[in-house]
Amino acid sequence: MEPSEGYKLLAEGAARFGVTVTEEQWSRFYDYMRLLQDYNNRVNLTAIKEDPAIITKHFVDCLSIVPFIQTGGKTKTLCDIGTGAGFPGIPLKIAKPELRLILVDSLNKRLLFLEEVVRKLGLENVELVHMRAEDFGRDPRFRDSIDYSTARAVAPMNTLLELSTPPLKPGGTFIAMKGGRDEGSFESAASKLALTLDRTERFSIHVFDDDGTESAAERIVYIFKKLKPTPKAFPRKAGTPSKEPL
Ligand code: SAM
Repeated sequence: MEPSEGYKLLAEGAARFGVTVTEEQWSRFYDYMRLLQDYNNRVNLTAIKEDPAIITKHFVDCLSIVPFIQTGGKTKTLCDIGTGAGFPGIPLKIAKPELRLILVDSLNKRLLFLEEVVRKLGLENVELVHMRAEDFGRDPRFRDSIDYSTARAVAPMNTLLELSTPPLKPGGTFIAMKGGRDEGSFESAASKLALTLDRTERFSIHVFDDDGTESAAERIVYIFKKLKPTPKAFPRKAGTPSKEPL
């Protein structure tokens, strides 16, 4: 795909969510896409391979949550739990350079890729953390201190809440990006973790598959607020949140 066509696809997709992508930001997205495709030949990072699919299913999808992050132009910290190849963290950082970004994943080969992305794109104030989310949430450097956390395609909601919210400060916001599937019940997990569901946003994204097929993909974004510090019992030890969801 010609870079100018790619820019148009990204800019139009993002505009649907009120997000503007400048040419300078597009050039970062473009370099990110090429690095992703190049690495993906050696290390399994994403099943999505073609430009239009990467631009819509990864980049536009991630940019759809930009309106839920309010920085007022000031530095706010955002941790992306189970970031994989950097989603949604890296697109958010390109869109909002004032963010201090912490990318967390338990798989080191993905963090090595992200190290290269951060260097080549010249992104500043980005920290890569090779840890299980359960350990990250217990670490005194991070616990109860972060403004925003995000997660996409990491775990069912009742597990995800335990993985993603202990790092938040009281008043902090967790943004969970989900497909259209029913998430089951998570009220009990939210209440045990001192969270309240602030709002739920449903929308669709115009996406391309790798074979060029176009469709509307359903998305649900759940936005939680943390009411007070996470109770000491959480997160439980690594593995327990998924084996015995709250
Ligand atoms: N968020 C990315 C995306 O939307 O493309 C990656 C999704 S991938 C399906 C799930 C990622 O979560 C993997 O990179 C995996 O290593 C990571 N992950 C799963 N459980 C985790 C945990 N307990 N702690 C840290 N990372 C975890």
